[in-house]
Amino acid sequence: MGSIKGIFATAQREPFEGIVYWDDSTKIITSVEEQTTGTSTYSFSQYCLIFAGFIDRHTHGRAYPLPDDATQEEKSTLEKHLAKNDYRSLSEAAVTGGITRMGCVTNCPVQATTQELYDAFVALINEESLIPALPYAMIAPGSKPFGNYPNKWMWTSVGGEEVPDEEVPGILAPYAGHYVCAHPEALGPLKELSHHIEYEDKRGHPTQEKATEILLKAQKDTGFTLDLFHVTRDSQIKRIIDAQIQGQRDIHAEACIHHLLLDRSARKNKNLKYREFLFMNPTLQPADEKATLTLSLGYPLQYVSSDDAGHTLEDKANKAAGITGTHAMGPAAAHLIQAHTVPVDIIAQAFAQNPGQFWERFTGEKTGRIEPGYKANFTVLNMNKPLLMTDEFYTPKCGWNPWHGFKFAGRVEATIVDGDRLV
Ligand SMILES: [Zn+2]
Repeated sequence: MGSIKGIFATAQREPFEGIVYWDDSTKIITSVEEQTTGTSTYSFSQYCLIFAGFIDRHTHGRAYPLPDDATQEEKSTLEKHLAKNDYRSLSEAAVTGGITRMGCVTNCPVQATTQELYDAFVALINEESLIPALPYAMIAPGSKPFGNYPNKWMWTSVGGEEVPDEEVPGILAPYAGHYVCAHPEALGPLKELSHHIEYEDKRGHPTQEKATEILLKAQKDTGFTLDLFHVTRDSQIKRIIDAQIQGQRDIHAEACIHHLLLDRSARKNKNLKYREFLFMNPTLQPADEKATLTLSLGYPLQYVSSDDAGHTLEDKANKAAGITGTHAMGPAAAHLIQAHTVPVDIIAQAFAQNPGQFWERFTGEKTGRIEPGYKANFTVLNMNKPLLMTDEFYTPKCGWNPWHGFKFAGRVEATIVDGDRLV
């Protein structure tokens, strides 16, 4: 029998001291005891908070399955992608950040648009990753759902096809009754804003507002479950709440750590070594236009993710959007608690419990709660040890750490995956 002793943080109650036991063969929690006498497999100090294992459901792996008869050109394209990350390096970054399960968006040159390709991704990921991972099925013009998978519509972001906004509801129509995750940036406003010089202005607020409006309407008309990825702005949050008040229940929404912890001014912050490369889609917002983002964690923003996307510095100099971040997830959670006074139970919801429900919906596996019947996955944060993030502390495979210079108010003490301590 395995066990972990210390202070547990859950979404249900105030943090409590105790020991949690699990079965060594199934790695499933068998009991939660509020006493601390006796030894345990793992034991953590009073400065640590033990959460159910965090899940980063939004990462972008770069590896993809190639057909046996792939051309030399196709092979060399894959090599270039593998230089940025692969599922082994992505999972190493994830466990560094306290992550015990991850979701992988497959917006690669080969995408999971059929059952056969989806299965090929599953095989590839399972072979390489240190932790269980769930690929997304991709939505493209003319595609149809082919199983109980999270489906991802990339819209205008890299990897997606450029289609007029008014065609989007038709593309999503076959997904009635299914789970649709969507990147909320619309093409029309992007074209209208393209004359701007600054990256943030080129991808200004109309792109996200228009996309959110179209997606919420399509959800209502078609009846799929909508999961809005990386919500960044107050105006989007208001639209989501309004739709839910009007009775649209099947709406989920996510925030990403860079949008929570950074605003547009980060790109001029001299403490941040790679400030000029801190752009992504959707990109950093002005502080006063995202004032309710952190306050909306829990509801309506149920999930926090990293949107980890590895690009080399050369790619960034060529305007590739996206940064890595799964290695910063745990530190970000500690920072939200310490520096932004986000309640501990909300962190337990947004980093573990809610993404755990998302995970269970597609895999059948229970994780994300500290209760009998759930997997022995734990993320332990040390709330008393700030972390100045640097390239030396952790360098993702793409060669640089976008968080270099950011001082997190806490750090990951341990990552326990299926009863085994990986960090
Ligand atoms: Zn993404």
